[in-house]
Amino acid sequence: MNKDELQQLSEEALKKVIENLGGSARSNQQEMTQAVAKSLAEKRNLVVQAGTGVGKSIGYLTPLLLRTALSEQVQIVATSSLALQRQITSRDAPAVAEAVEEVTGKAVNVQVLKGWSNYLCRLRLNQGDDALLWDDAYSGATGAEEVAALREWGLECESGDKDDVPFKVSPASWRQVSVSRRECIGRACPFLDECFPAAAKEKAFDADVIVTNHALLAVMVGGNPEIFPDFDAVVIDEAHDLASRVRTQGTAQLWPSQIRRLARVARSLSRSGAGELEDASHRLEAALDDCAEGLLVIRTEELSSAMMAVDDASRSLRSRIKGAKGATEEITVARVRAGLESIDEVMDAWSREPEQMILWIGKSRNDERYVNIAPLAVSPQLYSTLFSRHTTVLTSATLSVGGNFEQIKWASGIGRGECDYLDVGTPFDPGKQGILYVAAHLADPGRDWPDDQALAELLALVEASGGGMLGLFSSWRAAEAATEFLREKTELTVLFQRDDNVPALVEEFRLDRDSCLIGTMSLWQGVDVPGDSCRLVVLDRIPFPRPDDPIVAAQQRAAERAGRSSFHEVSLAPAALALAQGAGRLLRGMDDRGVVAILDSRIHTRRYGQYLRNSLLPYWTSTHSDTVKAALRRLA
Ligand code: SF4
Repeated sequence: MNKDELQQLSEEALKKVIENLGGSARSNQQEMTQAVAKSLAEKRNLVVQAGTGVGKSIGYLTPLLLRTALSEQVQIVATSSLALQRQITSRDAPAVAEAVEEVTGKAVNVQVLKGWSNYLCRLRLNQGDDALLWDDAYSGATGAEEVAALREWGLECESGDKDDVPFKVSPASWRQVSVSRRECIGRACPFLDECFPAAAKEKAFDADVIVTNHALLAVMVGGNPEIFPDFDAVVIDEAHDLASRVRTQGTAQLWPSQIRRLARVARSLSRSGAGELEDASHRLEAALDDCAEGLLVIRTEELSSAMMAVDDASRSLRSRIKGAKGATEEITVARVRAGLESIDEVMDAWSREPEQMILWIGKSRNDERYVNIAPLAVSPQLYSTLFSRHTTVLTSATLSVGGNFEQIKWASGIGRGECDYLDVGTPFDPGKQGILYVAAHLADPGRDWPDDQALAELLALVEASGGGMLGLFSSWRAAEAATEFLREKTELTVLFQRDDNVPALVEEFRLDRDSCLIGTMSLWQGVDVPGDSCRLVVLDRIPFPRPDDPIVAAQQRAAERAGRSSFHEVSLAPAALALAQGAGRLLRGMDDRGVVAILDSRIHTRRYGQYLRNSLLPYWTSTHSDTVKAALRRLA
């Protein structure tokens, strides 16, 4: 199918989707649909920024489902969270599939594919913590009633899917009835024929379009192509998050206590040599205790030799557990092998060129030190496994920073090959709907931010708007200080992120027009409240990444080594992206009006401020406190 045909059919199908959903045509959405159709037909990668209000999922699903209907090739959609996967499969994809069937006469089967631990594990239901080998963070945790209810539900449910559980389940309880892909013993499992995650995977493999998440895509990028069937193209939504998700997924970790747990399981196998592994775990623990928490630039001799000892002991254990006698021993052998594979992954990362890896020492809640190793750059991997092999569309509301696409090109690696770049804008009119206020009269944020003047400014803004304020803070300490201050000085309901789960708080914020919601980084992306319940968004400071974050510190060193500007590459560009995400919480609907207030005067006084302002929607901008407060009073 050539470009013109796919574009024409996409236009037709998009009209039908809009008719069926009762919406109205938007030129930005049409432009996006046409660009994605061209990309798919010409097999050319595309980066497309589509602002809030465009309806981007329908914008890309329409040509993607058409392409599937006409080519019979499998396509993938990957988004950042399970919630977005749900939204696509329950609302947008069925509407698009219906329109595509009307246009082509062909039905398209869209299925969701989630990670293994989103489903009940029958082995765990039967064996409890005994079936858990590697991650025992929640084993023996409270919630016995919930776990009992889950066991009962497991006997009668069809899917075993966490989303289908008809009652509320805490993460701790769920952890007690599920396993990660790594912990699954696969063919050795006596419940394999009735395994929930395996059945879900099989169902997804029969689909024409698979809707998955970044984490699973990252598993594929990390060298596991079998996680998906052969596919043609992939659309990656919320693509501004992709590189960090891939790095998180690719981070190998090793805890001495987990090695000991593995050794304990292995001890039941005769002549396993588990004692050697246990000794190695103690050696590793001692070596880690001598290392400071954080980035480890030079590997100490003790740590290197302890890692070698773990490697030797795990190899020796593997060579001794070749055969298994009886079904019970077979399960134990499979569990030990799964544990050894995890050690192999860490050793593989450890043996790579140190300059290309980030090595840091973490500390768990119970003060145990552990090893983390992550790739310094994920772009080569993303390019070689994805962008150079499959037509890829990257999309998000925030992909261009400072007015260009350099950041996403550099961070994801899509710029290593041919690619088109497009910003379809937003149907909103930011210059008329929103004001960007920079409190230029305040001092630069210091250690004890927010200071008295900043808190007074926050209070004045909130009083002018009569509430309806979303406060996005860059640290818990600052968020807590602002919450306490507003609770003391106003009668308004002030919701604080630590008081409840985020969806419940956001719902309360939405329903109570004059309430305020205050939180930290997860709210910068996760709040979608159209209407006047959110008429003031306050950002306390420029969200520069923390320089003591080991990944940030390693990236800064690498940029400096290569003679590039570490400030621009590692600090400014990610801060601009986060700022755009935060400020983007204001306008969520065509009738929304309001103010984005930034209490960090550096946006106005520093040279890089212009770059940051260029990363935001083109709001009407002001530094005049009185003018802005007058506007807020009109919205109150
Ligand atoms: S195959 Fe894996 S996930 Fe399925 S029941 Fe067995 S251990 Fe659990």
